[in-house]
Amino acid sequence: MAATPIPLEVRNIKKRFGDTEVLKGLSLHAHKGDVITMIGASGSGKSTFLRCMNLLEQPNEGDLIVHGEEVRFKTTKRGREPADWKQVVRMRARLSMVFQSFNLWAHMTLLENIIEAPIYVLGKPKKEAIEHANALLERVGLSHRADAYPAQMSGGQQQRGAIARALAMDPAVMLFDEPTSALDPELVGDVLKVMHDLADEGRTMIVVTHEMGFARDVSSQVIYLHQGLVEESGAPADVLGNPQSPRLKQFLAPKY
Ligand code: ADP
Ligand code: MG
Repeated sequence: MAATPIPLEVRNIKKRFGDTEVLKGLSLHAHKGDVITMIGASGSGKSTFLRCMNLLEQPNEGDLIVHGEEVRFKTTKRGREPADWKQVVRMRARLSMVFQSFNLWAHMTLLENIIEAPIYVLGKPKKEAIEHANALLERVGLSHRADAYPAQMSGGQQQRGAIARALAMDPAVMLFDEPTSALDPELVGDVLKVMHDLADEGRTMIVVTHEMGFARDVSSQVIYLHQGLVEESGAPADVLGNPQSPRLKQFLAPKY
């Protein structure tokens, strides 16, 4: 039997906006079950790096290999872009993203949000999609909210719903961009608990977060970004417990 391909390899990604290079050569290897957390000051490039991984932004240079499949690019007069958008759709289905601002579709119930992509992107039969969605709703503690619209739900419920929607695609990798930053403090714990459970069950995750407790307890690797470069990376006990770079020391120092 062929070896299972590694979920995500990113090689030497560079990204410019105009004349400003915001990612200056970033690489990452996510093996099955890895939880890679990315930390860094605002503006260091964390979101742009995540967005390049699923091609919400087009990297100017670098390679992306998703579940063993290398993304093909071509150069046009607009610059570098994917050679095959069908491939991008397939690849995005393997890399589900959870955003800071929840991003559930406002005009659909929670259940409809969750079954949409499995039916229309993966071609799942509706009955099967609903069964899977109900199981996922139970896992994130939202069985009672299946028919609610996003505006009727708390931020924490919306975010757990967004996680259920991401899981419905059975992605190779889940990407999280500060999933708890927009939540009232009392709602953060429930969302982190769901993410903790996903890590425990061996999900491959890349998580941008300011929750250092989560990073310390759950990560297989912590990456500290500074101005579009990896300033320090490694096991959480080293990066968070024994930082070497003066910048990282300062970043981690208590603010008050
Ligand atoms: P972080 O998520 O670490 O706060 P970002 O990836 O959002 O950082 O931003 C990195 C840098 O890229 C910032 O200087 C930001 O202003 C710039 N940037 C991000 N997106 C765009 C864009 N669409 N156009 C121009 N500049 C951008
Ligand atoms: Mg960001």
